[in-house]
Amino acid sequence: MPVTRIALLGATGSIGEQAIAVVERRPELELCALASGSTDLQSLAMAHRVRHVQVGGNLTELLEVAEPDIVLNAVVGFAGVEATLWALERGVTLALANKESLVAAGELALRAQERGGGLLLPVDSEHSALFQCLENRPLETVDSIVLTASGGPFRGQTREELGDVTVEDALAHPTWRMGPKITVDSATLANKGLELIEAHFLFGLPYERIEVVVQPTSVVHALVRYRDGGALAHVGYPDMTVPISYALTYPHRAATAVPALDLAAGLTLEFSAPDLETFSLLALARRAGELGGTFPCAFNAANEVAVNAFLAGRLPFLAIAELVEETLAAADGSPAGDLHELVQADADARRLAERELAVS
Ligand code: NAD
Ligand code: MG
Repeated sequence: MPVTRIALLGATGSIGEQAIAVVERRPELELCALASGSTDLQSLAMAHRVRHVQVGGNLTELLEVAEPDIVLNAVVGFAGVEATLWALERGVTLALANKESLVAAGELALRAQERGGGLLLPVDSEHSALFQCLENRPLETVDSIVLTASGGPFRGQTREELGDVTVEDALAHPTWRMGPKITVDSATLANKGLELIEAHFLFGLPYERIEVVVQPTSVVHALVRYRDGGALAHVGYPDMTVPISYALTYPHRAATAVPALDLAAGLTLEFSAPDLETFSLLALARRAGELGGTFPCAFNAANEVAVNAFLAGRLPFLAIAELVEETLAAADGSPAGDLHELVQADADARRLAERELAVS
């Protein structure tokens, strides 16, 4: 059996750990490189006999020497951009969990993929679901795509009620266990905003044909509405094992230990529109996406600054959206021609956000 060699970036995170569990079950999958931001990787590397290991530093140098068949990018934040572009440029299969890289570098990523000609397999559950429901059907048969959102821990609450929520409140996600940054993003709905932009670049649809709907139990991961009035949905228990395994074993759809949906147990599916006034980051992301250029990059950068400040106790929950809005208003947003210009746009937006933070 041919072995698929995987470079796992963000190996110590929530996605990283679940990916390792998937690899352990499949003899045809092997880890060839591991990277983390600051957590030691020594024992993990020993356990999986991985030769190429890196803590912090330049991810593309690691990838150059490891020569993986698949890059699983499970780094959090803009730090994942270079690895995404590296894989796309070279036509190395990219299993992408790091949504921030596609949000910030969408245009550059598409151009790199065109040159590289490799596969881009989404790991984000909604996008994996859409990828599966679309299955290369012609776009002209598609009416729209629908991203589902759990609504997070504060679903149904008003702005007034969210004035004094704590970090602990925001980290108590009802349906998913994830790293702290994406968990806060799920509480503000910035996560769904990032996913909206991610979907735009992945599937090539204009923003008006990408809908967001709340589905509190996270059983319906996404839907594709076709022009004949039918829609295909992807359903299952919320478990990242499924999209991770799908991407790592594509197109074979290997077995996993995730249980089948128990439909007779009384599954109820409720849908509602998101509250865009209370969770304004979703609307801001849509606007940034529609403006294009480096506005999505600025949205992401400001959001990263704001979420870090919130997690550090330096910013109230509702001020996350305010900080992003102010940064977007001040950002110049002109397109980035290359990675250097993108890194510049990211740094500029961070500086604007830090300045807002200092006076807030
Ligand atoms: P996490 O915080 O649990 O893990 C992040 C990982 O990235 C850690 O291993 C950390 O060491 C590493 N890292 C951070 N900075 C780095 C750097 N500069 N260089 C190398 N490694 C670095 O995060 P997570 O929940 O696993 O999420 C990872 C990514 O996947 C995020 O982009 C998130 O939005 C996306 N995602 C996560 C889930 C989920 O269920 N956790 C679902 C969908 C998408
Ligand atoms: Mg998701």
